[in-house]
Amino acid sequence: VSSRAFHPEDTIIKTKHTIIGGDHFVFMAGPDSIESPEHVLKMGQKVKSAGATILRGGAFKPRTSPYSFQGNGEVGLKAHRAAADTLGMDMVTEILDTRDVELVDFYTDIFQVGTRNMQNFALLKSLGQKRKPVILKRGMSATIDDLLNAAEYIAAGGNHQIMLMERGIRTYDNKYTRNTLDVSAIPVLQSMTHYPVIADASHAAGVAKFVSPLALAATAAGSQGLMTEIHDDPEHALVDGAQALTPAEFFQLAEKVRQIHQIV
Ligand code: PEP
Repeated sequence: VSSRAFHPEDTIIKTKHTIIGGDHFVFMAGPDSIESPEHVLKMGQKVKSAGATILRGGAFKPRTSPYSFQGNGEVGLKAHRAAADTLGMDMVTEILDTRDVELVDFYTDIFQVGTRNMQNFALLKSLGQKRKPVILKRGMSATIDDLLNAAEYIAAGGNHQIMLMERGIRTYDNKYTRNTLDVSAIPVLQSMTHYPVIADASHAAGVAKFVSPLALAATAAGSQGLMTEIHDDPEHALVDGAQALTPAEFFQLAEKVRQIHQIV
């Protein structure tokens, strides 16, 4: 059901504050992790003023090391929800575990499945039972077909509100960037499926100074939105400060993205 052959028109997803898909372009941005109620609200104000309508942030963090900060859990979800409501934005947050589906569902507007869980079929099946949008990030070593089959697991349960996200893949040279943004995946996926395709240049680059060029490239390639991490004090961010744009940098990027999106 994910194939364009089955459903030729673009899927359009409507949340309270955002229309996603087709010719619409969506900015989803915010901190990597929810650090405190004050911080997520402040970051939300910044990204909203730059044009973002979806506030991102992780309360359950899939860290490479079990000893790294794992996120603030429900305390983080609450703070995120409150900030989104105060600002009139939608909330997106990552879900790691089937046991947390009801908890995360209570707070969020959009579920995010991260790269490490793209083939967590139990999780995909439980999100297939929900009637709420899901962002499915491409596994860092997943092929296009793997990604589309993972999406199918959600769709098979009856939930067709799916966004696919290219966030960089592992290649033979990831010394200078964290991953390699597969720009080609954007038009290829759009030709094969009707779901909106969105890019996350932050996790692809892993280095703040490379985020904007990659985000612009993704926009030029037809991405229907961007997910971007920001922080007002990247050096002291609890997670992934190295790839965070400052609010001012994000503002500048958003301006350029709007210009490119008008052309493509
Ligand atoms: C994230 O967006 O916070 C994240 C962990 O992304 P990814 O799953 O792409 O690494």
